[in-house]
Amino acid sequence: MAQHSSTPYPLVIVGSGPAGVSAARAYVDAGGPGPVLMLTSDVDHPYERPPLSKELLRGTAEPEPTVLDELPGAVELRRGVTVTRADLGARTLWAAEEPIRFERLILALGARPVPLPDVEAGAEVHLLRSFADARRLVTSAGHARSAVVVGSGFIGCEAAASLALRGVGTTLVTPDEVPQQERLGREAGERIAQWLVGAGVELRTGVRVSGVRAPRTVHLDDGATLAPDLILAAVGVEPGGGWLADSELTVHEGRIVADEHLQAAPGVWVAGDVARAHHAVAGRPVPVEHWGDALSMGEVAGHNAAHTEVGAPDGAGQASAQAHEATAEADTLRAWETVPGFWSTIGEHTLKHCAWGDGHEQARMVERTGGFTVWYTDAEDRVVGVLTYNADEFYERGRELVAAGTPWAEVRG
Ligand SMILES: Cc1cc2nc3c(=O)[nH]c(=O)nc-3n(C[C@H](O)[C@H](O)[C@H](O)COP(=O)(O)OP(=O)(O)OC[C@H]3O[C@@H](n4cnc5c(N)ncnc54)[C@H](O)[C@@H]3O)c2cc1C
Repeated sequence: MAQHSSTPYPLVIVGSGPAGVSAARAYVDAGGPGPVLMLTSDVDHPYERPPLSKELLRGTAEPEPTVLDELPGAVELRRGVTVTRADLGARTLWAAEEPIRFERLILALGARPVPLPDVEAGAEVHLLRSFADARRLVTSAGHARSAVVVGSGFIGCEAAASLALRGVGTTLVTPDEVPQQERLGREAGERIAQWLVGAGVELRTGVRVSGVRAPRTVHLDDGATLAPDLILAAVGVEPGGGWLADSELTVHEGRIVADEHLQAAPGVWVAGDVARAHHAVAGRPVPVEHWGDALSMGEVAGHNAAHTEVGAPDGAGQASAQAHEATAEADTLRAWETVPGFWSTIGEHTLKHCAWGDGHEQARMVERTGGFTVWYTDAEDRVVGVLTYNADEFYERGRELVAAGTPWAEVRG
């Protein structure tokens, strides 16, 4: 199925995460012309990331990738290939100096973990994003009696609980007073802290890592030193679009700016963690880093790419983007309008969160037997988010209330 190098692929997708895979499926389902080429730095066949910090690290699932989905037959997958350069006017990408020409392009580049600052050369600090990372981490965990996890975001909390539950003495280090206070509020953060302690995690809050010395000595800014068998840094991610900053695309803090149809330039769409897309319902750009949203954005991007006619670049590959202006019938295009949300499992506890993700003014926890709901409102007291634990009906309702921007007074009444 491989194309001759001078023949452009009707669609090239960069990235084999949920955004790339669902884009491929939606494009083929919508009758987009093939063949489709998917390029990915990942060495494994597309797989699910969520189990990597949960069942897989805990040791309750085999250390094998959970296959994400079969790709449609029209899709040629090239693994272990990193795209390093793009000339969008000439509709050409370069991977290891090989030019790859395209008519349409979907960028689903995801994000990568931010490393800890001040790590001495030779120090062993794990990061967790890919299955290959998880395989190394699980191997280390198999020999470890103690671990330090740095960072109390969802991946840090999930991984710390999983390590502790598999019997590794685990310390979680975070500058926050309680995990995720800023994002979820104090009360929800306190619940997470209780769950972590219940799983056997030692919490060291209000401290920062000031440096890591080889092979595995962690220095904290309160003067303490820890010397675990394993260190995992989970201090956030950097979206993968930074290398496109000099291209025709607009890139904001590593994310590629796109409209509500997820189009970033003529013939170019983006989806998933790398996107800074205008949300049709929110009416503003909404960056997200969630599995389900990457799937739904991929669907929108793939569908819209299939419904857009594009001219092929000229033989010399020198034509401008304007010369290839993509045309689409507006009524066939889809807008991105799902309210962002995700689930996280910390030990035995599954939280469901749905929110615009750009902060809240007030968080109100409503308890029920064995569960709770936290409602988040903005400065005008409208619902902008909901967090549920064993309260699924409020998660579903919350999504509707967030979408509608319902005033809190109506919810309470
Ligand atoms: C351990 C872990 C657990 C998680 N758990 C949850 C969870 O429970 N719930 C939830 O909602 N979210 C969770 N997430 C987040 C979720 O996995 C991401 O939001 C999601 O994977 C984003 O999908 P994506 O397709 O945008 O990017 P990714 O899944 O990151 O995929 C990006 C792809 O692009 C490729 N790529 C990047 N740059 C290039 C390049 N230059 N050339 C070629 N290929 C390139 C990468 O190799 C990769 O294949 C978790 C993440 C991790 C790491």
